[in-house]
Amino acid sequence: MKKRNTVQLLGIISIIILVSVQVFIIRGIWKQKDEMFGLRYTMRSQEAISFINRRMPTDGFDTVRLLLKDYSEKVNSEIHAIKDSNELEARKKEILDYFTGVVNKEQDFSGMLSAYFERRGFEKNFNYSIVINNLEMIGNDTIDVYQSKEFSNRQSTMRSGRTSASEISRSKILVNWFRMEDNNYRFFFEYFIDFSDKQKLILKETSVSLLMSIFSIMVVVILFMITYRNLMEEKRLSNLKTDFINNMTHELKTPLSTITVAGKTLEMVQIRTNEEKILETAKLIGKQSIHLNQLINMILEISMWERTQFQLDKKTIEIEEFMHDIVESFKSGGGNGASINQKYNLSGEKIDIDVVYFTAMINNLLSNAVKYSDKEPVIDIEGFTSDNSLCIKVADNGIGINRSDQKHIFDKFYRASTGNIHKFKGLGLGLYYVKRIAEAHGGDVSVSSKPAKGSTFTITIPYKLK
Ligand code: ADP
Repeated sequence: MKKRNTVQLLGIISIIILVSVQVFIIRGIWKQKDEMFGLRYTMRSQEAISFINRRMPTDGFDTVRLLLKDYSEKVNSEIHAIKDSNELEARKKEILDYFTGVVNKEQDFSGMLSAYFERRGFEKNFNYSIVINNLEMIGNDTIDVYQSKEFSNRQSTMRSGRTSASEISRSKILVNWFRMEDNNYRFFFEYFIDFSDKQKLILKETSVSLLMSIFSIMVVVILFMITYRNLMEEKRLSNLKTDFINNMTHELKTPLSTITVAGKTLEMVQIRTNEEKILETAKLIGKQSIHLNQLINMILEISMWERTQFQLDKKTIEIEEFMHDIVESFKSGGGNGASINQKYNLSGEKIDIDVVYFTAMINNLLSNAVKYSDKEPVIDIEGFTSDNSLCIKVADNGIGINRSDQKHIFDKFYRASTGNIHKFKGLGLGLYYVKRIAEAHGGDVSVSSKPAKGSTFTITIPYKLK
């Protein structure tokens, strides 16, 4: 159990590490693609700007210049006359809003950039934003309407040429930095673009590595699960084999030692003169030999089924009568004083079965019902037809079977944990035998059981009405 948990834990930890490493790698690839995307569009934008400058009669801001000229002429004299500082601040804000609104709305640059991208087969749908960084109204004394801290920092990095690509690509892509002036104003602004489909485009580019990663992780997880299951199955089978050998030795030893003792008894002089004792001992030897023979035959038959198909020798029989016969011979063969109640609803029903195997199947269920009982055994047998099938139920008041064992009791060599201690003798083959016979008749067997309450085995065999 400890080894099993360690293997499981190690496997799970390795898978977690593997998944984390993959996530880490994919995040790295994603970040790299994101930066590459930003760089690519920064370069494409720069090409677009030089193209526009060379080929176009306008830079796309002519309307802006016209509107700002009229506006700045009007406000410039006003602003220079304002003495009240509060009023001046309010007026500055109005001016900045107007400038920002006009450059954002009235320019043709975005359309030109988009047309350039489209002609080159690049992504043409982008959002843009223009940010004014420094606005001055020029008069006798220049008034700073707006000067952002970021702008002064960026101006110095730009001048020194140290604007890093990652800084730009982190969110939006900086296309260009413009300066516009006239007699009344002077300002700088930055033009950014942002692709709403950027994530989708990057996903498309990374999809191959992403899919390969997911696929390889899935393969590793599935392989781990299969290997782990096989390992556990192998372990279970090897345990079953060991238990089977122990149980078989025990089962074979009992009749053998009885026969040995009986042989020794027959050698004794005082026994040889007593005919009654000789007969009794001979009977005992005979009985034990039959038991031994049955055990060996069962093992041989089962190993033969593994190699060849089950051969049934079917006969048409009246089932109710046949069931009565089986129960009667079980009772007369010992039955360990079990009280057996029979209830059939099968009057006159005929069915094709292999008489020998069918008898062995019912006998196995009856002897289990007696064997796995810790009180006076009471067995209820029911027989009826349902959906063109014959159903035989064998219910007992015995020790019952755990839910976890119920799944395995029909497996070869399986014995429930209580069965492994030699209190209940057996080889773990009886129910396997029952299941194989029921299946050979085209049917099946099932169990329902509650520990300490009892078990009910149901055999279902399909049949045609005769
Ligand atoms: P065996 O009896 O030789 O151990 P079986 O294949 O007949 O092998 O049964 C498998 C296991 O199922 C048994 O070890 C026992 O634990 C359980 N079992 C079978 N029949 C009954 C029953 N009627 N009541 C309780 N447990 C049963």
